[in-house]
This record gives sequence, C-alpha cells and structure tokens, in this order.
Amino acid sequence: KKEELSCEIAVVGAGPGGYEAAIYAAKQGKDVILIEKSKVGGTCLNVGCIPTKAIVNSAEKYHMLSGLEDIGVSCGQASFDMHRVIGHKNQVVEQLRGGIESLLEANGVRLVRGTAAFQGPKELLVSQGLNRTTVKAQHVIIATGSRIADLPIPGIHGRNVLNSTTALDLEEDFDSIAIVGGGVIGMEFAGIYASLGKRVHVLEYEKQILPTTDPDLVEVLTEDLKGQVDIRTGVRVQEIRESENGQCIVAFESGGRTKYLVADKVLVAVGRSANLDGLKLEKAGVELTENKRSIAVNGSMETSVPGIYAIGDVTGKIQLAHAASHQGLVAVDCILGKNRSMEYDFIPSVIFSRVEIATVGRTERELKQAGIAGNVSRFPFAANGKALTMEEGRGFVKLIAREEDGKLVGAAVAGPDASNLISVLTLALTNGLTPEAIISTVFPHPTLGEVIHEAALGLTVGAIHYH
Ligand code: FAD
Repeated sequence: KKEELSCEIAVVGAGPGGYEAAIYAAKQGKDVILIEKSKVGGTCLNVGCIPTKAIVNSAEKYHMLSGLEDIGVSCGQASFDMHRVIGHKNQVVEQLRGGIESLLEANGVRLVRGTAAFQGPKELLVSQGLNRTTVKAQHVIIATGSRIADLPIPGIHGRNVLNSTTALDLEEDFDSIAIVGGGVIGMEFAGIYASLGKRVHVLEYEKQILPTTDPDLVEVLTEDLKGQVDIRTGVRVQEIRESENGQCIVAFESGGRTKYLVADKVLVAVGRSANLDGLKLEKAGVELTENKRSIAVNGSMETSVPGIYAIGDVTGKIQLAHAASHQGLVAVDCILGKNRSMEYDFIPSVIFSRVEIATVGRTERELKQAGIAGNVSRFPFAANGKALTMEEGRGFVKLIAREEDGKLVGAAVAGPDASNLISVLTLALTNGLTPEAIISTVFPHPTLGEVIHEAALGLTVGAIHYH
C-alpha cells in the first residue's frame, strides 16, 4: 500500500522528546504527523525511566520490610515474586503508553507507524512491512533517540549476559551478578539487586563510580551499599566467558594484572549510541557532530539544514528524558517564530539508586576550575526531624552560591526524596534566586524540604538546627 501525506511538522520518533514536541505543537494549532517504528513512549517509557523505577519501587519496599521491627512494625517473612514485579512494571508501562496514544489522538496528532528515512530535506519515506507512506512536511523534528551500544567485549552476547533492556524482563532467580559500568544505569540496577539480597559486583573503568558526580554525594551511596555491593573502580573488563556450570567468568584488568570474578549473571550497562542508521540523513544534507556520533544542532535545536531540527538523545547533548522534552519545546517554539534558545545550565539530573542523588547547576569542582569564587553550605538529613521519623537520616543537601552576586549556581541532594527536592532547587537556580529568597520563603514543618531552608541559612547567618 502506498500513501502520500503532508503536514506542517513531521516528528520522527515518539520518545519523550518527539511525542511531547508533537503534542505541544498541535496545541498551538500546528498540523503534526508523528512517526514511530516501535512503541510510543520510546526508550524512556518502554525500557528506561519508567520500567526501572517500577522495579526500584518493588525492590525498595521489599528491602524496607527487613528493618521495620525497629519502628514497631512486624509483617512476618517477606518474600519477593519477580514474575509479579515484572507484571506490575508492564501494567504501568502499558497504562502510560495508552495514555500517550489517547493524548496524541485528543490533540489531533496523526500517528504514522513505520521506519522513517529522508528522501529529500522535507520529505520522508515511512516503511512498515509492505506499506510505504510518503510524508511531506514544512518542518521536520528528528527525535530518534538512542539504543544500547554494541561494545567489542568478547562474550558480551553470552546466555547469561544481560543489558538494561533484557534485565527488565528477567524473572529467573540468581544469587550473584556482576554489573559492568558503574554509571547512572549500572548503579540503579546495583541498588535493585542489593535490595533483593543478591551478591552484587560493580566494575567501573573510571576512578569513581558515577564518574561525573560530586565525590561527596557518591560517598553517601557507597557508604549505604558497603558490605552489599563490591565496587571495583579503575578496572577494564576484557572478556566474559561461561564456565562449565553455566556461570559467567568476567576477566578484567586491574593495576596491570588480569583478575577474574565469577557471577551467575552479568549486566552490561555501558554506553548508548544515537539512532542515526537508516535515516538517510545525507539525502537531506543534515550534518553530524565532529565525532560523527550524533546530529549537530544550534541553540534553536536546528540542524545544518534550515527547517530540520533534532532533539533528545540523537543530539548527543544530555541523555535524559526531561532534557529531550525540553529541547522539543524549544524546537517547536523556534518553528513558531518565538525567540528561544536551549539553555543547558540548570538541567537537573537524578540517580535513582539505593540513596537517591540529585544535582543541578555547577559543582564545587567546576566552579573552582572556572576560577569563580563561591560559598558552599551543607545541611545533613540527620538534623531534619521528618527524615528521622522516616529513619532516613543519611545524606545531605548542598547549596553553592557565587560570591560575586550571591546567586545560587549549584545544588545537590543525596538522601531521601532527592529526586523531588531537586525540583524546588532547580526552580530557584533557573530564576537566579539568592539564599535570601529561600530564607524569606516559609517551608512547612516537619518536611524533608526544610533542609533547603536550613542550607540557605547556612550560606548567610548559619543553619539553626546544625552547626
Ligand atoms: P527515545 O526515548 O530513545 O525515543 C526515540 C524513538 O524513536 C523510539 O521510540 C524509536 O523507536 C524511534 N525511532 C528511532 N528511529 C526511528 C525511525 N527511523 N523512524 C521512526 N521511529 C524511529 N532518563 C531520565 O531522564 N530519567 C531516568 O530515570 C532515566 N532512566 C533510564 C533508564 C534506562 C535503563 C535507560 C536505558 C535510559 C534511561 N533514561 C532516563 C534516559 C532516557 O530514556 C532517554 O534520555 C530518553 O528516552 C531520550 O528520549 P528521546 O525522545 O530522545 O529518544
């Protein structure tokens, strides 16, 4: 079957970048076609942010049960049923996917299923099975995202070697797992398996797990995982072999020597590559970045070809769902003729491991490297009433203000609900607030958020409940 369609904006890829851009444009009167070759929701909804968090939630609740006697709650022997955990995860994902599909319909976005490839700057050919649809558009937004990178590690495709996608459907029980890569995804899975009582090994190439994160924050996590997760940094995985009894033998280089580690499963959580293949970008003249790994864009998210935009993971900027969505809104606004530019200074980032770590803006190290004088304040959850009632006294909030004008330029939280607390701080930083603005805001008591108020006091007269 052959069909020809035309629209004002064609969006390729229905991940959080693409589908949000499509809805946002449609809400402003644009005629939009959204093209998706697989499932609506992209990586984030189907095999990323959401499914992992559903499993994190089950694992954390199970883990919590073992310490409840101390607070006067007893619930007998806890058990964990991976089949039902995965069932719950699938139900949440399907519910959300259905929600997006109805939103697209309600907003008049036409969804075309199939794989898109450029035929010219403003023309795409969408193929699905024997069906071919030609989509002509005034503007195109490329939002094809990323996929798991294929690494040249011998044995990486072994029977018991998982990646972040296959791990989400693993029902089989096991005792031990070696996680290759101590980045955001690796540490999230390390938290899940540690909470389930598995023996977990993490093998990280850099000197620190979560290499780009402030070491102070990372320490809160490593302290929590101590005794449960064997973390090895500065090591290079060379090979994964299968032993006679089906276990995995991981060979890695550490301090110039080859060492071995045996585990039932291996999870490789290293790297993602932009989805560029098959798009036939050359037919549209769209240029790549210098390293050829992603699409080059300017501040308006426009590529080298006027009228063709790219957003999300495919741009290789920041591999986060909310960054993709925000880039999408910027691209649409630029198409609509609004004067907008993508700002990267205050994009929050969260690590959903056993202790949540959330950051926004600059770190102390970055400030120092840039030669900018700043003041730092830390306030611990151990001095926060609500945190103690929750038995969550680990971690702290950190605020960094620029000395020159007192503006907050960096914030971080390691501890309970860090992922939610960072939103308030992101609002403060994005709007150039000073600690005084936070101090003059009344925070409800008793709440975890009070740590923010206290840390702001710490930058002026000093915190009240800590010195
Ligand atoms: P994607 O979500 O990758 O979507 C791209 C879509 O384009 C896909 O649906 C794909 O099928 C489609 N497509 C590709 N090529 C074509 C084509 N030629 N024609 C038609 N369709 C095409 N981020 C967070 O912010 N928070 C988290 O907690 C988080 N957790 C994560 C956990 C894991 C395990 C992983 C893997 C990722 C996680 N991420 C998280 C990252 C997040 O998923 C991505 O940054 C985000 O999905 C990128 O959105 P996107 O729209 O650019 O692309």
